[in-house]
Amino acid sequence: MVNIPTIKLNSGYDMPQVGFGLWKVDNAIAADTVYNAIKTGYRLFDGAADYGNEVEVGKGVARAIQDGLVKREELFLVSKLWNTDHKAEHVEKMARKQLADLGIDYFDLYFIHFPVALEHVDPSVRYPPGWFYDGVSEIRRSDATIQETWTAMEGLVEKGLARSIGISNFQGQLIYDLLRHAKIVPATLQVEHHPYLVQPNLIRLAKNEGITVTAYSSFGPTSFDEFDFPHAKALTPLLKHDVITEIANKHGKAPSQVLLRWATQRGLAVIPKTSRQEILVQNLDCTSFDLSDEDLAKISGLDINTRFNAPTNYFTTEKLW
Ligand code: NAD
Repeated sequence: MVNIPTIKLNSGYDMPQVGFGLWKVDNAIAADTVYNAIKTGYRLFDGAADYGNEVEVGKGVARAIQDGLVKREELFLVSKLWNTDHKAEHVEKMARKQLADLGIDYFDLYFIHFPVALEHVDPSVRYPPGWFYDGVSEIRRSDATIQETWTAMEGLVEKGLARSIGISNFQGQLIYDLLRHAKIVPATLQVEHHPYLVQPNLIRLAKNEGITVTAYSSFGPTSFDEFDFPHAKALTPLLKHDVITEIANKHGKAPSQVLLRWATQRGLAVIPKTSRQEILVQNLDCTSFDLSDEDLAKISGLDINTRFNAPTNYFTTEKLW
């Protein structure tokens, strides 16, 4: 089985550097997918309330533990607080609901999913609630501040409900603002990161503040095929880009492994997802070879500062492009 390196978090805990992402994993196959990934050697699972599959993910975890594949303490289970639960009174309530859905009693890591506070939607009305208050198109902001939410997140650590807490989709300015009042410095920043969106200054800022970085959507536009974004479609898929395929051929590796190694070799964690067994094994094996400094620089040179996951930019039915 592949040996996965770990990254030391500022909370003192070790986080596996390669994990499995749970976004868009269908409920019907989520339990089996998680079980199988654990069997293959994955230990970190990156979930969220918004992915709507925590009950099924929990079933996969429970079955793996029951069958003796793994112990709870060997797993690193990650989830995220949704935008509609940013008010202090909802943070613990929703964290407890998500823990109950997963059938566990603590998160290894719990994120603020987006620095966007929306009006609360009770789970009895709709769960997960998504972005729109009416479930269709209405954006209703909440007056919760990031300080209020972060203080409540710190409360989860004090109560033993989360071992580490983190932030996702935050930019530098907001991280500095949060650090003014944070009693607990975020353990991890999770952001979109691939050669078309390298964000070197943000990565450096996080590093300087002792915050580790997890990259999501490591293959760039490929994750967003189904959303029909013209700017994603117009670009050469990274998995087929000459720079990536040439480096992959040179090392006898798949282009996907090169993209994941480009991130892991620079100290970031990655969380790719697949339901295909051979790809599951291949993605996990992305730390056992090294790229040259020249390879790394060439890949970083593809940067065009292009973000695909920017939901707040799409809150309109008008065509913007
Ligand atoms: P991904 O890394 O899962 O990959 C996207 C696509 O590439 C999928 O269609 C997958 O089937 C395919 N793929 C995977 N491995 C491949 C391989 N080796 N060769 C060819 N194709 C391959 O991208 P993602 O889902 O955008 O991101 C990964 C995870 O990051 C998510 O599951 C989620 O956990 C997390 N995420 C977090 C946020 C956030 O806001 N914090 C946003 C997006 C994703």
